[in-house]
Amino acid sequence: MLTDVEREKLLKAGEIVRKVKNEVVKLIKPGVPLYDIAEFVEKKIEELGGKPAFPCNLSINEIAAHYTPYKGDGIVLKEGDYLKVDLGAHVDGYIADTALTLRVGMEEDELMVAAREALENAIGVIKAGVKVSEVGKVIEETIRGYGFNPIVNLSGHIIQRYKLHSGISVPNIYRAYDNYTLKEGDIVAIEPFATTGAGQVIEVPPTLIYMYLKTRPVRLLQARTLLNYVKKNFGSLPFAYRWIQGLLPEAQLRLALAQLEKVGAIYGYPVLKEIRSGLVTQFEHTIIVEKEGVTIIT
Ligand code: MN
Ligand code: MN
Repeated sequence: MLTDVEREKLLKAGEIVRKVKNEVVKLIKPGVPLYDIAEFVEKKIEELGGKPAFPCNLSINEIAAHYTPYKGDGIVLKEGDYLKVDLGAHVDGYIADTALTLRVGMEEDELMVAAREALENAIGVIKAGVKVSEVGKVIEETIRGYGFNPIVNLSGHIIQRYKLHSGISVPNIYRAYDNYTLKEGDIVAIEPFATTGAGQVIEVPPTLIYMYLKTRPVRLLQARTLLNYVKKNFGSLPFAYRWIQGLLPEAQLRLALAQLEKVGAIYGYPVLKEIRSGLVTQFEHTIIVEKEGVTIIT
């Protein structure tokens, strides 16, 4: 169960990402660099009194998730691109996680409607006592009803304070063994992904998002210094390569990150691409599970 103060902080985080979503829509035009969009989103979150809960993910077409721009990537929006904007803010560790898909210069199409309706339908069946497998079933049926595939190895998740993924997943398909029962006060991110591809993502380079895990001995002084820096600044929340670009020359920064990842001091989240390069759409809300229904905070 949530206290009134906890609920208030969550609602504030939700209000922040809602406002940012409304503003970011206006920026989406052909020729706009992804870098500018990510920087806009994260700065706006801070202006509104929150902190980014993770780097703004801007994933295009067959990239499902975990792309966040970096200085020099040269990526700009093109007409017809499916752009997934996935953003999160936290207030005192209480996280709101939300995403939407926009089609650059074009109207919403069925691939987008499939994911958006899957999210709406999933939220419609949630209340205390519902199993996450039932949520997965609704998502799967909605997306397949449009003739697309849900992505089976991406899922929603229960959120805890300063912890984006608590370890409990909310699947995007029906699997009988997903038997966690949602409880009153659970904070849950629901995020269906629809694709024209096979419905599975694979990890591809580069890795642009990392998370601090634990302090471990490392040989390189620069790696030790970097580890202290990310621990102090980002704690248990994911951070972007972009946020530490410039702390060291590029080759040294990449070497330090590789060494820290190898010893298990940090965790890397590679870019996730649909296995058959199918187009991917995603919509996401964070909700609070109530006795009779939900409160959508985003
Ligand atoms: Mn998200
Ligand atoms: Mn999420």
